Amino acid sequence: MPNFLAAVKRSRPWGLKRWGMALVATATLGFCLWVGGQPSTVLAQSEPAVERATPTNATTYRFTVGDYRATVVSDGILSFPVGFFVPNADPEAAAAALTDNFLPTDNVLAHLNVLYLETDEHRVLIDTGAGNTFGPTVGYLANNLEAAGIAPDTIDTVIITHAHPDHIGGILDGSGNPVFANASYYIPEPEWAFWMAPTVEMPNALSDADTQASTVAVAKEWLGAIASRTTRFALGDDVIPGVVSVASVGHTPGQSSYLITSGDDSLLATGDVFFSDPLNLENPDWEVAFDTDPQAGVETRKQLLETVVGDRRQLLVPHMPFPGLGHVRAQGDAYGWEPIVWGFGFES
Ligand SMILES: [Zn+2]
Repeated sequence: MPNFLAAVKRSRPWGLKRWGMALVATATLGFCLWVGGQPSTVLAQSEPAVERATPTNATTYRFTVGDYRATVVSDGILSFPVGFFVPNADPEAAAAALTDNFLPTDNVLAHLNVLYLETDEHRVLIDTGAGNTFGPTVGYLANNLEAAGIAPDTIDTVIITHAHPDHIGGILDGSGNPVFANASYYIPEPEWAFWMAPTVEMPNALSDADTQASTVAVAKEWLGAIASRTTRFALGDDVIPGVVSVASVGHTPGQSSYLITSGDDSLLATGDVFFSDPLNLENPDWEVAFDTDPQAGVETRKQLLETVVGDRRQLLVPHMPFPGLGHVRAQGDAYGWEPIVWGFGFES
């Protein structure tokens, strides 16, 4: 069984084509997409299951938001070629930004952090990780929940930020069965309407047609599987007690972040508004390939960053380094990331 981090490292020198082929060879039930911008492939359910190693470092991080107990659970880590991630950025400027931050210049490494929350009334998950839609370096959520003593079937509420595969893929297991068997789902109405429309078009997106088609296919199938258990709400609505939607459109047409409040404490669990400190905070104008509308993505990013700097708001960000908790600070004409100081659990 391959080592978890070794699997990530092995991906770096591989060409784009090989990345895609490797994932096609290992994924099951669904689609390999985005990775390296390669065309996706629909795979039969008879394909062998994704082989995953047992992580040897911490995969959960516990903290509190007022009276609520919160746990960040890792779904794994993704890796994207820099030129694919920010295709319109000057390659030398992108490489310099990464080098200045002591990061590799070939790939953007993006963690996948999922928030589990115990409120007064509910056991809540915000997004579900990638499941088997994105290859062997992600899809660890269910195992890591179990390892933390959180049985997936005890989660009663799943709230979705947006319907990209790394956020909804974990709804179904490798056999197509629901992982969170007793959960009700909540999703913004414009997000549902966009992906479930008979024709889905994203003329401003920088991604290629095959990537777009596979993204749409996953959204339709995975959301379709939970249609009867899903409540749709307007952006900005109260979703459940203590959790309010914050419109974050651009990455997708109906994306929401969520402001979680208990007593005097609060946390903004963002959707995909930024991914990388050097590429998206230091350079918030750089367009991101995954955004349905990259210019709207830029506007939303700058607006949200300005707001959270002013509010000194603590954030949970899905793709920042685990556990993805921190603050944004002003840095010259742009922004920077301050991760939280690691704590030791609920009582610390
Ligand atoms: Zn994402």
